[in-house]
Amino acid sequence: MEQSFSLQGKVALVTGAGRGLGQGMTLGLAEAGADIIGVGYAPMPETQEKVEALGRRFFAIEADLSKEDAVATVVSKALTYVDKIDILVNNAGIIRRNEAENFSDEDWNDVIDVNLHAVFKMCREVGKHMLENGSGKIINIASMLSFQGGLRVPSYTASKHAVAGLTKSFANEWSGRGINVNAIAPGYMVTDNTAQLRANEERNAYITSRIPQGEWGTPEDLKGPIVFLSSDASRYVNGHILYVDGGWMSS
Ligand code: NAP
Repeated sequence: MEQSFSLQGKVALVTGAGRGLGQGMTLGLAEAGADIIGVGYAPMPETQEKVEALGRRFFAIEADLSKEDAVATVVSKALTYVDKIDILVNNAGIIRRNEAENFSDEDWNDVIDVNLHAVFKMCREVGKHMLENGSGKIINIASMLSFQGGLRVPSYTASKHAVAGLTKSFANEWSGRGINVNAIAPGYMVTDNTAQLRANEERNAYITSRIPQGEWGTPEDLKGPIVFLSSDASRYVNGHILYVDGGWMSS
């Protein structure tokens, strides 16, 4: 069983590896044996130090994934560091909040560019490379708002519904060709992304009261799920969206 979950000798490319859920998943992958290519706006010294302390290699690629040609540059740069990318985690994402009637074009476009366009292109470009190798694991980071409407976050909700659809679409085409394409849908997790929500006492209390486990999740809570979906243990799992939500979707 240990062998099934091992990522020894594998390389994982993780977007948004510098903090939050991306950092938590990166450390889980490294703990299971993977070397890491981390993608972020800026250097990711804290993540790099922690990965290297585990005895794994860490290559940082600085890129703004909202830019038109960023994905092609990231993938070609990654392949100068390593021969093979075994695991792709599309984690980088942003959120903008405003009432639907006041939601600006800018807040629509900025979110769709990072959360959807970049995810599609990363799947396509890294997927091509994985198809050549005949194997690979792609894990997209979805959300509870891949299934629910949310409040004051229309571009985020639209992007995350689309990420769920993209995951199934790519899984249908590639599952017979050695590639697993799945998603993780985190529930309410303690990161910078949710700082505004947690600062609102009333909303925070309401959300917490609706989580059956009675507490928000943390980046560490994604370590097990990401290792499972990145390893041989999930060989026959494809097109699945795994809730990691303390039971939120059942409540
Ligand atoms: P976070 O703490 O705000 O981190 C977001 C990460 O994405 C950062 O590492 C950031 O890089 C990177 N990023 C954002 N825009 C980028 C761009 N244009 N180019 C390159 N990198 C970019 O967010 P998080 O909570 O960890 O969220 C991670 C993912 O989980 C997102 O897709 C989010 O939608 C999803 N999610 C989060 C929750 C939650 O409760 N927190 C729930 C469901 C889903 P820098 O560090 O360089 O800025």
